Amino acid sequence: MRLTAGTVTFVGAGPGAAEYITVRGARCLATADVVLHDALTDPALRQWAPNALWVHVGKRGYRDSTVQTEINALMLKHALAGAHVVRLKGGDPSVFGRLEEELQALHGAGIATEVVPGITAALAAAAATQRPLTRRGSGRSVSFATAVTQSGALHAGRRADTEVFYMAGARLRELSRRLQATGWPADSPVHVVSRALWPDQIASDHTLGDLASAAVLHSGRPAVVTVGVGATPVAANPLRVERHQPPVPSREP
Ligand code: SAH
Repeated sequence: MRLTAGTVTFVGAGPGAAEYITVRGARCLATADVVLHDALTDPALRQWAPNALWVHVGKRGYRDSTVQTEINALMLKHALAGAHVVRLKGGDPSVFGRLEEELQALHGAGIATEVVPGITAALAAAAATQRPLTRRGSGRSVSFATAVTQSGALHAGRRADTEVFYMAGARLRELSRRLQATGWPADSPVHVVSRALWPDQIASDHTLGDLASAAVLHSGRPAVVTVGVGATPVAANPLRVERHQPPVPSREP
């Protein structure tokens, strides 16, 4: 008997505690036969799929292209055997998540796919620390960038009013130098948030010039580095009670 091929659903787990997954993401987990999950996803997510086969396929950064090939092979193997595979990724699958390579492998084999979005780390950090990424009048654009590239070179520039850097935790000194060379003043505000939306979240304020001093505090923890308008705290307005003025009736001519 030939089995019909299964499907692969990419689900964004969100950045932190299990409850930040979407309702649709949790529903997809509930029908999964196999869950292939990253290192940064909360083990408490197992409650949604207690009977599925959970396989840890974590990888960090660009180091492991062999691991990527193995993940692709594993997804294909289970999907071709008819399973509903959930590929559970930290944050959102479409942001620095190697989604392109994984979709290519599956589409090449004719496997049906779906992508369920999740809360990406930049948005988690903004929400957790109440620092909106856009601000009326001063912050009109946001850039999500990775500081680390495949070649190991560090790329950073001035592209938006608020820039959020992923995977930069280990290279803060270099990031600071590079950003200053591309026109960001040394006194630009920088906000670093590690383990956003986890109970042990840490957030710290810096200027671009002294960003390197954040390295020890956030060492070994996933962190996003926000530079520019969105890095500043929201200033409190003095309490102002607006009195309601009834409209002046217009006089008939
Ligand atoms: N797809 C993920 C990003 C994966 S790349 C997303 O959408 O969030 C991994 C990087 O994400 C880490 O190096 C770090 O920069 C960031 N990151 C992931 N979880 C984080 C968290 N809880 N707090 C801060 N940064 C986080």
